[in-house]
Amino acid sequence: MTLSPRAGLADGRLECAIPDHKPLLTETQAVSEANRCLYCHDAPCIQACPTGINIPEFIRRIATGNVAGSAETILEANILGHSCASVCPVEVLCAGSCVYNEMEQPAIQIGRLQRYATTHAYDAGMRFFTKGAPTGRKIALVGAGPASLACAHELTRLGHEAIIYEGRELAGGLNTTGVAPYKLQAGESLREVAYVQAIGFTIRNGVHVGRDVTFADLERDHDAVFLGIGLGPDSRLSMPGEDLEGCEGAVAFIERMKNDPACSVAGIRRALVVGGGNTAIDAVRELRALGVPEVTMVYRRGEAEMSGYAHELAQALQEGVKVRYWSAPLAVTGEDRVTGLQVAPTRVDAEGRLVIDETQTSMLPADLVLKATGQEKLAAMVAGIAGIAVDKGRIRVDAATGQTGHPRYFAGGDCANGGKEVVNAAAEGKRAAQGIHALLTTQAGTAPAAAR
Ligand SMILES: Cc1cc2nc3c(=O)[nH]c(=O)nc-3n(C[C@H](O)[C@H](O)[C@H](O)COP(=O)(O)OP(=O)(O)OC[C@H]3O[C@@H](n4cnc5c(N)ncnc54)[C@H](O)[C@@H]3O)c2cc1C
Ligand code: SF4
Repeated sequence: MTLSPRAGLADGRLECAIPDHKPLLTETQAVSEANRCLYCHDAPCIQACPTGINIPEFIRRIATGNVAGSAETILEANILGHSCASVCPVEVLCAGSCVYNEMEQPAIQIGRLQRYATTHAYDAGMRFFTKGAPTGRKIALVGAGPASLACAHELTRLGHEAIIYEGRELAGGLNTTGVAPYKLQAGESLREVAYVQAIGFTIRNGVHVGRDVTFADLERDHDAVFLGIGLGPDSRLSMPGEDLEGCEGAVAFIERMKNDPACSVAGIRRALVVGGGNTAIDAVRELRALGVPEVTMVYRRGEAEMSGYAHELAQALQEGVKVRYWSAPLAVTGEDRVTGLQVAPTRVDAEGRLVIDETQTSMLPADLVLKATGQEKLAAMVAGIAGIAVDKGRIRVDAATGQTGHPRYFAGGDCANGGKEVVNAAAEGKRAAQGIHALLTTQAGTAPAAAR
């Protein structure tokens, strides 16, 4: 099968103008980096990887010229190992636990070595896994993001028929619509989808569960249902002017920038991004990379309270991004479109509460205002299904199996963990597949859905 990295994507998308920040290593660079690995006996890096990839083994295989074997080690543990190689925040995961950090030497570039191995396997069309002997069981998966893709792949290996229902026209979830283009572009995400799907499961794009088919339909026609629905749209700020043209959610803007050729930043000279998390940092870095001259983050608290990664913030500052701390947005201003943001100073009182001083407002001029203060939770969509419990917007699951309070429903990824990383979604999707398999293979006497 030919894996087209561009299938379904239009030319001229803005993300294509943003260069890769960590380009593919050459063979010489990869072997030289692999040879730095100390192959620690207790390998703290393995513990730090949510999918438990045997990192010293895959690195040793690169060092000895067995790149195919290296890719197999990676993909056996994590079938989304190709995108994870580029998008994982390795500084706080595997590479963050590398013993070289204690020696004050650069950690092994685990992500880049991983990408070197998986790219080799992809380019050479190597496949390591096959469909299991058919069990006659059929599972519906809702959403085609990393969680469902990992779950569907594992279910197929175990012999079950997996069918993913995805509301969008493109599969891949936030790997295709949200991740910063300097880490992974949509085309490469779709290439991974094609690679993973080639084992033999179905993706029905453009089918929104709850609108085009109901959960009752899925229950009737399948033996189990996996929920990999992720998070919802950007949270609103609930302040005047936020619906003006030129003010939008950061995740929505990033999706247009990555997938919609009509998206443009022409004429944008001053952009403000409200928030202090990773999405806010991604958005400011992307705007700078697209050539917007003045880009400022507006955050209600100080640097120490920011939830975004410190290493990403440091890079944003190096790239010329400014940050305005201790400032709360009060209103987006403008007539037909955005002209600025009214802000007020903030402080923390003796009880630790944030206090906004609305007597001293100031105006920040802007042509674009992005809201990056979080995403709504979609879990409410399934809150009516008997037995499914939703806790602070997350679907409550058994951590070992991914099973919800309804025995035939499982969940994983952002909708269950509240919003973590791609690698967590991949780990939880695979674990849920094993949970579903255990349920279906111990259900002696229960007729498969196909026979009901
Ligand atoms: C802007 C941004 C940047 C990020 N950058 C990184 C990064 O650099 N590295 C990293 O590791 N993580 C990053 N993340 C987090 C990461 O993308 C997520 O943790 C991961 O994608 C979660 O996977 P998922 O499968 O749970 O959900 P998603 O990727 O959100 O996929 C859910 C899918 O379900 C579909 N869906 C929802 N409801 C329905 C329905 N009713 N019917 C049918 N389909 C439905 C959606 O259309 C979507 O395709 C980022 C997140 C954001 C928002
Ligand atoms: S999947 Fe991510 S965390 Fe795990 S070894 Fe690879 S880069 Fe590191």
